[in-house]
Amino acid sequence: MTLASLPTVEALRAFVRDCRAAGDKVALVPTMGALHAGHLQLVSVARRHAQRVIVSIFVNPTQFGPNEDFTRYPRDTERDLARLIEAGADAVFLPSVEAMYPAGFSTTVTVAGVSEGLCGAFRPGHFAGVATVVAKLLLQALPDVALFGEKDYQQLKVIERMARDLDIPVAIVGVPTVREADGLALSSRNAYLTPAERQEAPRLVAVLRNIAERLTAGEGAGPLLAAGTAELAAAGFAPVQYLEFRNAETLAPLERADRPGRLLVAAYLGRTRLIDNIPVEPIRS
Ligand code: AMP
Repeated sequence: MTLASLPTVEALRAFVRDCRAAGDKVALVPTMGALHAGHLQLVSVARRHAQRVIVSIFVNPTQFGPNEDFTRYPRDTERDLARLIEAGADAVFLPSVEAMYPAGFSTTVTVAGVSEGLCGAFRPGHFAGVATVVAKLLLQALPDVALFGEKDYQQLKVIERMARDLDIPVAIVGVPTVREADGLALSSRNAYLTPAERQEAPRLVAVLRNIAERLTAGEGAGPLLAAGTAELAAAGFAPVQYLEFRNAETLAPLERADRPGRLLVAAYLGRTRLIDNIPVEPIRS
């Protein structure tokens, strides 16, 4: 199995054209590299939707804030390529920053509503950066389908909304979060954790699971979220930026699990910002 390396938009478009000429459907998996089993799961689900899978690797500067980790974000292209060959991807798109944002670049895609609150409140401009780069990637490749992880649940909702609103003819597919055996969601940023922090990190999902169960049993969200926040703070998460219960589709706040919901959290452990989320089943009646 060979992995085609596509350094430019022209090469990407030629590759997609050849796939189509052969009668194959095309899937795109956008990533920022530092690939782990979560990314590879997106590749494997992509295979169910299309004969050909393209992975893009682009650490997008416009989605990082001025005090965020753009410069120290882990980059290891050689290792990523080896993993993609193993996972059976067909091609990798590796655009340069200059190609994505040439001098004079002036367009930003902003998505109101679902971009606001949660991570949007703590990372100004982040979702505009994400929506802009994903709009570009979708329009550059024009795949049949593009896959995104539920790990970044608000991002998934922003991208769904953006693709719908802009009539981008690409099916957006969400893929459930891949976790370590102890529950910690796989993330490229887990590499920043010290051994002691790594031990503590699964508490994030443990708190979510406990609250989810009690919401589904009929309890109200307010006291559960307050107690969960206190538990995380006592365990050394500082600050807990948010712990919220939202409508799974619209991301509007929910007090009771009277419809499909989502619990979402963002908290720092030392210098590392961790996010996670899980579905909440409606109250069984
Ligand atoms: P990133 O490289 O962090 O931008 O992630 C690229 C894609 O992989 C995004 O759609 C993420 O939501 C997805 N992803 C990241 N971590 C996981 C995970 N643990 N499980 C499933 N998908 C993930």
